[in-house]
Amino acid sequence: MKYNSQRFIMDREQLNALNAEGCPACGGKFTLGEPVVLACGAWEGGPKVIHDNEAVFDRRNQSYVERKCYAARMASTPVNTGVSP
Ligand SMILES: [Zn+2]
Repeated sequence: MKYNSQRFIMDREQLNALNAEGCPACGGKFTLGEPVVLACGAWEGGPKVIHDNEAVFDRRNQSYVERKCYAARMASTPVNTGVSP
């Protein structure tokens, strides 16, 4: 496992917990057995679980970031803001 526990497969327990709200990146629901990641994004309150294909792995911070947020971040400031676990 290269990118550790930030990426995992959706299990039934997570599915029940997370589908009340849905995916914060696309607003859709999750599916059992689907790859998901814990990512930072434009939303409030720290990392959230989103679909794997909606996130980019940010090597500088060793964490996933939502694509749109990542693009905005790259455009505005290339500086590491020091947000790390
Ligand atoms: Zn999604």
